[in-house]
Amino acid sequence: MEENLSMVSLIETDLVAATKKYLPKIEQKKVEDALLFATKCHEGQKRRTGEPYIIHPIQAAQYLADINMDCPTIIAALLHDVMEDCGISFKVLEKKFGKEIATLVDAVTKLPSVRIKNTYSERSDSEIERAATIRKLLLATSEDARVILIKLADRLHNMETLFALEEDDQSRIALETMEIFAPLAHRLGIWDFKWKLEDESFKYLMPKAYKEIANLVSRKRKAREKYADRTTMLLEESLLKASISCDVQGRAKHLYSIYKKIERYSSLGKKFDEIHDLIAVRVVVNSVKDCYLTLGVLHELWKPIPGEFDDYIANPKDSMYQSLHSTVMCLDSYPVEIQIRTKSMHETAERGIAAHWQYKDDPDYLENSYIDKLTWFRNLIDWQIELPEDEDYLDSVKSDVLKERIYCYTPAGDIKSLPMGSTPIDFAYEVHTELGHNTTSAIINGQVVPLNTIISNGDTIEIIKSRKSQAPRLDWLNPDLGFISTNKSRFKIRQWFRKEERNLTAERGMMELSRLISRLKITTPLIDIAEDMSQESVEELAILVGAGIINTPTLVKNLSKFSKQNISHSTIQLDAEDRVGLLRDVTQVISDEGINITAISTIELETGKRIIITVDSNGLQQQNRIYSIIDNLEGVRNIETMNN
Ligand code: MN
Repeated sequence: MEENLSMVSLIETDLVAATKKYLPKIEQKKVEDALLFATKCHEGQKRRTGEPYIIHPIQAAQYLADINMDCPTIIAALLHDVMEDCGISFKVLEKKFGKEIATLVDAVTKLPSVRIKNTYSERSDSEIERAATIRKLLLATSEDARVILIKLADRLHNMETLFALEEDDQSRIALETMEIFAPLAHRLGIWDFKWKLEDESFKYLMPKAYKEIANLVSRKRKAREKYADRTTMLLEESLLKASISCDVQGRAKHLYSIYKKIERYSSLGKKFDEIHDLIAVRVVVNSVKDCYLTLGVLHELWKPIPGEFDDYIANPKDSMYQSLHSTVMCLDSYPVEIQIRTKSMHETAERGIAAHWQYKDDPDYLENSYIDKLTWFRNLIDWQIELPEDEDYLDSVKSDVLKERIYCYTPAGDIKSLPMGSTPIDFAYEVHTELGHNTTSAIINGQVVPLNTIISNGDTIEIIKSRKSQAPRLDWLNPDLGFISTNKSRFKIRQWFRKEERNLTAERGMMELSRLISRLKITTPLIDIAEDMSQESVEELAILVGAGIINTPTLVKNLSKFSKQNISHSTIQLDAEDRVGLLRDVTQVISDEGINITAISTIELETGKRIIITVDSNGLQQQNRIYSIIDNLEGVRNIETMNN
């Protein structure tokens, strides 16, 4: 007991010392008051470790103080379990600590509880649960991102004391952490939380691998430290000679990231080096200009490896991360990655979204950061709320939320963040829903590009819109054509179709149905097809098709059983404007599908060119995919199947 109490006061002092570093006196006093209050509330309660309960909220608050979170967050962390575990009401908290803090505690208390029962090896099912849970967490966080930060700090301490729980609970909680909380910390850019959560989960999920890697790291520690010292010293010397003041650090990588690197290496058949591959070298300098000067000095000292350089300063990475990365042939002719960044980039890299709170009162803050650091988070959340509860929301969370993001620019230089793999149409919908609907063409970095081009990091995108307001194209929803990649776009397009008058939707659906029915040579009455697809009438089916809820590939799949067409062998005839590269484009589409062309001929028409191609294919769905893609090629006017 004695020992426990002294432990409390020790941790207490740590928290107070941490807040002293950055909080004004008046706020330090508030933290101390909250500390006393929470200690009283949890008096007599014990954790499974046998320690007094209060150690847990203090430790959670400490993690948040380490990333310099604001005073209300620290206090709410201290109080985060008093509602649930001590029966303290919202009213009491509000009266004592104010509405802001009471609301934070309340929100943390009400966060959905996470339940993933699967074992680590059965990933596919847990994917769905994971996505649903993340969505709930994000929704719960939408009012205030600090809620999720408190939850992450809470989880971090629970992970660090996981040894006290039963084995079953250990693996369940570790799995939740690896699948949900570590990715969330990653998305929010809080590196420090992310790697700690990963390493702690790793320990319980793969104890054998964890031990091996921990051994590996300690085995060659001396040799590695020596190597790191030699490297950093040489680099420091050269930088000093160039009058660049800097802080060079060589440190060992985190265990789970080493594990992943070893896995990657073994899949490439590459040997992992116990000294060089475990080191990460980082140079922190004073200004952006110094970053590039440092790069010059570095490349003069050690040869850069071609293709192993990334400029994340000009093109910030996921969650506002900025740095220069270059892999160089370092000492002993071994490749080592060096990261170069300024102090403020370093802060952002370590603390991500948490960096926002510290600077919010700094007048230079907005001027200095060309990305509003909270914008992407806002976008993410707003959009999650907009999305209806249907089968797509899981997809959406998985792809739009957890995918890495790229940054690109509007012609005015405004920055936009999109999930990797986005197209100009996705970009347009990101800028404005109306712009999305009215997109006719796109210019990337000054060049007109097809609308299904994938945007790269740093691209400048100009959307050309139609003069009259127009409808989105049904084709955009056909996944085979790659016009859109985000679920946000898909949702907006479908929403447009949903709002449209029923008869217009039905008309468009009928057109698409008739087109496919004639292409697939189907003679079955439409009503039988509708019935087969569990629709009450042809109109119902037409509406689903016209609104893009049943997309073309799905429709073809359903229609194929009615088709009388010879599947393995078919002849396509297409009419197009004659242009350079037309034939090449058409045959490219076919060969990209891995389909054999058995005969090809062209006929000059007065108005252009007719191409007749006979192909082998492995089914109607594949054939139809080629159709859709060729149909969308520039200059193609008409495409049809000839009777065999
Ligand atoms: Mn807790």
